[in-house]
Amino acid sequence: MLTWFPTPYPGELFYGILCRYYLSSGIREHNIVKRQLFGNRAGIKMATLYPNAAIHAVLSQLPKGVYDGRDMIVHHTPFAYYTRMYSINEREALLDDLLQGRSKTPTHLWKTFPRGDYALRYCPLCVQEDAQIYGEAYYHVEHQIPLSGVCVRHKCRLRQIAVANPRLTLNNSFYPLSAMETDKKPDMDISPAELRVSELVREYWMLPASVSPPTCNNLYQTILNCGYMTIARQTGIIVDKDKLYVALCNYHGADAVEKAFGAHITTSMANRLKTWEQLVPDRYIMIQAMLGLPTKNVFDPEPVPDKLREKMECMAAQGGFCTLRQVARAIGLKQYEVNAILRHYGMAPFWREEIPGKSQTARQGLLRCTVDEAELERIRQYSRELGYRCEGAFALDCIRYVMEQGNTPHKD
Ligand SMILES: [Zn+2]
Repeated sequence: MLTWFPTPYPGELFYGILCRYYLSSGIREHNIVKRQLFGNRAGIKMATLYPNAAIHAVLSQLPKGVYDGRDMIVHHTPFAYYTRMYSINEREALLDDLLQGRSKTPTHLWKTFPRGDYALRYCPLCVQEDAQIYGEAYYHVEHQIPLSGVCVRHKCRLRQIAVANPRLTLNNSFYPLSAMETDKKPDMDISPAELRVSELVREYWMLPASVSPPTCNNLYQTILNCGYMTIARQTGIIVDKDKLYVALCNYHGADAVEKAFGAHITTSMANRLKTWEQLVPDRYIMIQAMLGLPTKNVFDPEPVPDKLREKMECMAAQGGFCTLRQVARAIGLKQYEVNAILRHYGMAPFWREEIPGKSQTARQGLLRCTVDEAELERIRQYSRELGYRCEGAFALDCIRYVMEQGNTPHKD
């Protein structure tokens, strides 16, 4: 039984709490303290980004009711960030696994974790501030999530502690932040994009445990609404992956985009974004930051309007005489694209369509109008602009239109 264990500071990283226990124990040997903390699981990795059985091992040695395991996982590890895109049930199941000491890091997370020299990070100004308020510096959870490079509070670049072979070293030994050599001078040279991404990372981490992606996908719809879309004859409306990738590079810088997305956005990646099957929040956040979409809209169960659909429906509701060519011009699309999105939305054509079927020989009636040449030329030009193959077809369609409207002649 551990007789003394530090009370966590606000947003303090679980590993940091262990480091403060180590400091206060007065024992120098790391392995002795690890045995105290973890008992027969002393070999456990204690500085992983995604929490593991170390939490259960420590908490099971503390008097019951002193520490809430759930609070420890949700508020003192990046768990809530890494499980944000899961359904509530899946998240609860993962949480329960950790509380029971059954640690399984979801496999897709392994791939996204930084390798090599990535170590724990700190903000030089938080170090000073924490020392003033709490008497010592400590590791903040929100500074550790790799996508975030900036302290949101102080708007300066995060620094990394200097340890050799950090992954191995930190998992085996205690490096309390207050005992580390830290940079005093903050680097304030950060971009608005970096700050925005870091703010969103923090928001994703801090949202209540009950918040998961809703049925609708407002982020995906906003991508389309902002014009990052192409229309295919068969598949309807899809994300213009290349245009989106270029825009992301312009906003975040090519290196940051490559780190999060790879060399380009693939079709399967775009599909997973659409269905929320992309389970690491990083890519959503990169796109969301560029689009200027607030987090509450991303997780809002109320769908944002589909702007193109609204435009089409508005035109359909207006009624009146119009042709496919006019509609295409008004929306700024090609005619085949308008036809494709009409099918995509399951709408009926609301423009004049040529009546098919009748063969030439069946057309025995003849209608003749006599006009002067100047007017004929105007009619020709007008009918061409509307997309009619000849002025006769246009004239006939005009007559049909008036008659379809049910305009009965006035009888005085
Ligand atoms: Zn700070």
